[in-house]
Amino acid sequence: MTDLGPLLDSHCHLGAYDDPVAVMDSAAAANVSLVAVTESPEEFRRLKTRLGRRPTIEVALGLHPLRAASFRPADIARFFRCMPQTRWIGEVGLDFSQHGIATKKHQLRVFDIVLTEAQPGRHPLTVHSRGAETEVVNLLSQVQLPAVMHWYTGPLKLVDDALAAGLYFSVNPAMTRSKRFASFIANVPADRILLETDGPYAKTSGRPAQPTDLKSLANQLAIAWQVAPVDAAQTLRRNHDRLRSMAG
Ligand SMILES: [Zn+2]
Repeated sequence: MTDLGPLLDSHCHLGAYDDPVAVMDSAAAANVSLVAVTESPEEFRRLKTRLGRRPTIEVALGLHPLRAASFRPADIARFFRCMPQTRWIGEVGLDFSQHGIATKKHQLRVFDIVLTEAQPGRHPLTVHSRGAETEVVNLLSQVQLPAVMHWYTGPLKLVDDALAAGLYFSVNPAMTRSKRFASFIANVPADRILLETDGPYAKTSGRPAQPTDLKSLANQLAIAWQVAPVDAAQTLRRNHDRLRSMAG
């Protein structure tokens, strides 16, 4: 396979793999950098300590919506204390699917705090929106933060609103298997797309997706965009650089 140059996995639950260090090392060997998302400030602290300083890993600071009801004021305080230690926020967002609807009120409170208080740092956010796509797009368009809609499964008609709000979308190998992927990718300009695995939760070929899978995903995007794979990879890098430059 041609060398595509460096790629970025913008949403990977590195700490949830059986062997995070092995996943990280194989990603680094394949020239894939990672945004290692976390679900709580406690997990952020643990993962950072475990991994140490690595040039190809950014541990992101998260407050996962499905954990919102468990966050105490001390967790929120720790979230803001840790913020200077990272360049990415995630996983944050809302989940009003059957898995999350019971804690809707808690989620809205936590996400509102994140969006209001995250403003001064302007870190890029990687955002969960299952079943709450309208609310997430509305809230993000009000704050104008650099943000990525991760594994978007909402209605296509909301995509234009998200684009108008300046939002990006990260796509993963599991998404490419869905029927709606072709129309989704046709509706989002190439300059708003990033890659992700959402591994190990997202699967590919019957096993947890790995950052090394992103090469073939970049090749699939190249086909959809009708460009050479190296050009697709270049576009993805430019998108990431642009998003980063929006942040402080
Ligand atoms: Zn995730």
